[in-house]
Amino acid sequence: MKPVDFSLYLITDRSQTSGRPLPEVVRSALAGGVRAVQLREKDLADDEFLELARLLRDLTREFDARLFINSRVDVALAVGADGVHLGAASASVDEVRRRCGSDLLIGYSSHGLEEAHRAVRSGADFITFGPVFATPSKAAYGAPVGCEALQQAIETLPVPVFALGGVKPENLSSVREAGCSRVALISAVTAAPDPGRAVGEILSEMGGAQPTAIHHELRINSYGHYLRRRFGCRISKVNVDAGFTCPNRDGSKGAGGCIYCNNVSFSPRETQPVIPLEEQLAAGMAYHRQRLGSEKFIVYFQKYTNTYASVDILADLYHRALAHPDVLGISVGTRPDSLSSEALDLLTELAEQRYVCLELGLQSADDAILERINRGHTVNDFITAVNRAAGRNMDICVHLIHGFPGEQPEEFLKNAEMIASLPINSVKLHQLHAVEGTELAAMYRRGEFVPLTLESYVATIADFLERLPARVTVQRLYGSAPLEIQVAPRWGLKNNQMWFSVINELRRRGTWQGCLAVKSAFSGAPAML
Ligand code: SF4
Repeated sequence: MKPVDFSLYLITDRSQTSGRPLPEVVRSALAGGVRAVQLREKDLADDEFLELARLLRDLTREFDARLFINSRVDVALAVGADGVHLGAASASVDEVRRRCGSDLLIGYSSHGLEEAHRAVRSGADFITFGPVFATPSKAAYGAPVGCEALQQAIETLPVPVFALGGVKPENLSSVREAGCSRVALISAVTAAPDPGRAVGEILSEMGGAQPTAIHHELRINSYGHYLRRRFGCRISKVNVDAGFTCPNRDGSKGAGGCIYCNNVSFSPRETQPVIPLEEQLAAGMAYHRQRLGSEKFIVYFQKYTNTYASVDILADLYHRALAHPDVLGISVGTRPDSLSSEALDLLTELAEQRYVCLELGLQSADDAILERINRGHTVNDFITAVNRAAGRNMDICVHLIHGFPGEQPEEFLKNAEMIASLPINSVKLHQLHAVEGTELAAMYRRGEFVPLTLESYVATIADFLERLPARVTVQRLYGSAPLEIQVAPRWGLKNNQMWFSVINELRRRGTWQGCLAVKSAFSGAPAML
């Protein structure tokens, strides 16, 4: 499939060229930088339309640009166009997709969010959305949808969205403020005295086309891509073990810890507490540089409860991590009931200058489950912690586990609704798995813990992602442990294999993250970062 790699989509209208021949105007626009043209001209007779399509095909090829034909799939195929542009009055998207497979890109004109979602579910590769502003040429499509709806479309669709209708140089800044970096234009180009110059000015005002939050191929808002969008380079998280313990193990909140907890299961072997932080960091960064080509790093304080110390100790550790020139920020894993005001203020101060992610372990939004797993805090403790951390310029991540004894998939899905109602930016998910040295392993051997099957986990995670707002980034979908301590389940998957199992399930369904959460995008939840 060809990529939608253009940010200005020129739609023809020969009634708005001030008497100049349309090919002359299109040539000028192509010379100015247009990379995609849609031939519209619905009123032309078949033979004239075909002739003009052939002419524009030659012109667009000359400039290495894409050609789209409005509605007429037969003409698109006859002239070797790159795609077709459909709408409510044309053949349906799925019918055209069935007929043409991936040979043709499909654009779709939508005038509302639900219509746009339907078109993408049917297979549209990009959307023109509008009219965003009042314009006589789109008066038949009703009142303008406005920039707020445009922003919601961009945040909730996994394909590029082009602002259409009344877009002019004077309102481009509003379009950009809505997070939109792609425009579909008619008169702003065709009626301009110098179309090429108008295109150049608009393109420089728009900047480059930004990738969508929901990755077109992955169908989710992955944390890796979010970091890349935000910082413009390849970033890895590097685990360090700063020698913390946990109040749910040392007796101050509880004893014995959570029933599944064996910290060996979530710590790379290089991160032993005896090794100075700087050495752990150097080893972790070298590993990620060599393996993934990572350029910058986020130091991940993962093991145990990483705010469970005096603020002086915390300040020393966090500052040492941030001192490395290739470190962009820190990610701090902790319990929601172990976040002192001093620790929160320290993180807030750091977040004024650097990237800070506060990772709060919740595991389940059901108090009965939290009690059964000896978690030692409540759901309300978590909500309180989220609200205390909100508005402090840091990302808030929630950690959830699926597969607790007695937990039904529907109960797990309620976590997505709770996340939608809170200022949470990011989520980590994994399956409940028993590892050696834990109460859960003993329960498994006594027959009191029956692990999920891989198929049911993948299906429920896909269900969850469909309900998770598109603004929330996904950091993890799978938990793994060293082979020698794995008890059950033993799925034998690598992390990326689980990602692709879930992504393939979403693709099979024709869905994506947030496609069932459109309402929550209207509910005043925080905007995507
Ligand atoms: S809160 Fe974390 S570190 Fe503490 S016992 Fe539970 S899983 Fe282990």
